[in-house]
Amino acid sequence: MENFETLCVHPISGKEEGSRGSVTGLIYPATAYDYINGEELQYPGFYSTYNQKRLAQIIANMEKGEWGVVFSSGMAAISTAVLSFTQQNDHIIFSKDLYGGAWSFAEKELPKRNISSSYADNTLESFAALIRRNTRVIYIETPSNPLLKIVPLKAIAELARKNGIVTIVDNTFASPINQLPLNEGIDISIHSGTKYLGGHNDLPYGALVSNLAAHREPILTTAKMYGGSLSPDQCYLAERSLKTLALRVERQNQNALTLAKWLKAHKAVKKVYYPGLPDHPGHNIARQQMKDFGGMLSFELDIPANKLPVFLKNLRIVHPALSLGGVESLICSPAVTSHRYLTPEERKSVGVTDSLFRFSTGIEHIDDLVGDLDDAITAAY
Ligand code: PLP
Repeated sequence: MENFETLCVHPISGKEEGSRGSVTGLIYPATAYDYINGEELQYPGFYSTYNQKRLAQIIANMEKGEWGVVFSSGMAAISTAVLSFTQQNDHIIFSKDLYGGAWSFAEKELPKRNISSSYADNTLESFAALIRRNTRVIYIETPSNPLLKIVPLKAIAELARKNGIVTIVDNTFASPINQLPLNEGIDISIHSGTKYLGGHNDLPYGALVSNLAAHREPILTTAKMYGGSLSPDQCYLAERSLKTLALRVERQNQNALTLAKWLKAHKAVKKVYYPGLPDHPGHNIARQQMKDFGGMLSFELDIPANKLPVFLKNLRIVHPALSLGGVESLICSPAVTSHRYLTPEERKSVGVTDSLFRFSTGIEHIDDLVGDLDDAITAAY
């Protein structure tokens, strides 16, 4: 099926056996299953129940992968994937702009296992220069959080393959509607389903997808040991949410581009970060590897520091809240949320200023979003 809108609504072809004509998927709440005639042992902690496998296959179909595993959070998918391919004395290269949880995992958890990490800038050369004899994994976020930096996937996938290194991409910010890392040659694509896939700011989950059969067993073995399986009703809710993924993301893409252009022309805005703007440094690579540029953008306000809370307090539609990707537009200040543990100097070095805001565009009418931002900026300017 070529068209994403249709794939989202009909992600699995054919009728379900015993569905009694139901047009939706079914929920099987059992945690205990007969094993005498079964081909595979079914158990939630083995990631092998009907609803878990069905949701995993749906996401795999969307990501153009062969198979997938679903988890109770994005972090469970990330830690499982990384730990499946590393052991004592191994080395990992992460892209420098990283979700805070992944960064903490690299800095605080991996050293306990004697696994070391390096951080690459968003260029092929930077990744190549960091490869060591014991490098096992390259882990990339693109577009990145919060400055929407773009990392070239195809070139890095080739470099990694030549060196026998597993590649993992966190595809949360783009969603499969905008970016398909496996098509670029990446081994494993990961999602915090809590974001665009769930899409309603009410469903925590995670997923990973691959088309390499050899990776399935190591991943399932690690996943079983660390827990993090997803319940049948959450699987169903996730499946239902995916039916509108294409519609939601298409609107979010449009809203984000319009907002980015509007913000860029605003006298109270210093800088806008959006890969869909031609002057964004990653624009040309984004055009090659993304279908559209996504619903996330960041901007810096040219407003005195003491007026920044006034801006946030005057928003009526947009919520100042963590998380992203849902139908409600959300805004957050990375300096006091994701990057609050860095010193002011460290924050400056990664481009996170106090007046930087990350904006997750929802599906509201664009005029209402522009009006809300304009009123709040005017109140603070
Ligand atoms: N990856 C990205 C890019 C994220 O923004 C987040 C959460 O904010 C995660 C992974 C972790 O996902 P979860 O909160 O579902 O564990």
